[in-house]
Amino acid sequence: METNYSNSTPLEDVNNKYINLLKSIENPKKYFCRILIEKIAEKPLKSQNKWKLFLGKEVSEEEWENVYSSTFYLLNDTQLQPFQFKINHRIIFTNHLLMKCQLSETALCTFCNDAIEKIEHLFGSVNMLKSFGSA
Ligand SMILES: [Zn+2]
Repeated sequence: METNYSNSTPLEDVNNKYINLLKSIENPKKYFCRILIEKIAEKPLKSQNKWKLFLGKEVSEEEWENVYSSTFYLLNDTQLQPFQFKINHRIIFTNHLLMKCQLSETALCTFCNDAIEKIEHLFGSVNMLKSFGSA
């Protein structure tokens, strides 16, 4: 059905056109979010490749999508969400990374002083998770 804008200014015509377009979309928030993700977001291939290497297996696109989205719907704590995001994207400043940036004199683990402090060591070792939880 064509809307008659004959009594409105050109700016109002444009506004009405877009308002009608928005009204025709079932879920505008989801629609624009999907556009932003498709047009702007880049896949963090470097961190994904490092995780795949650590896991020793391929990870499907659906699994990556679950990993990234679960950060926001599983964690209610807004302080934990950025922390999980940093783990997912491997941007936690471990001693290994700090030493590469010449900001630490050692790459050894702060907790056990027995291994190189990488994300895999901190969060992939049960013993390290226990000591992290009790700290
Ligand atoms: Zn350690």
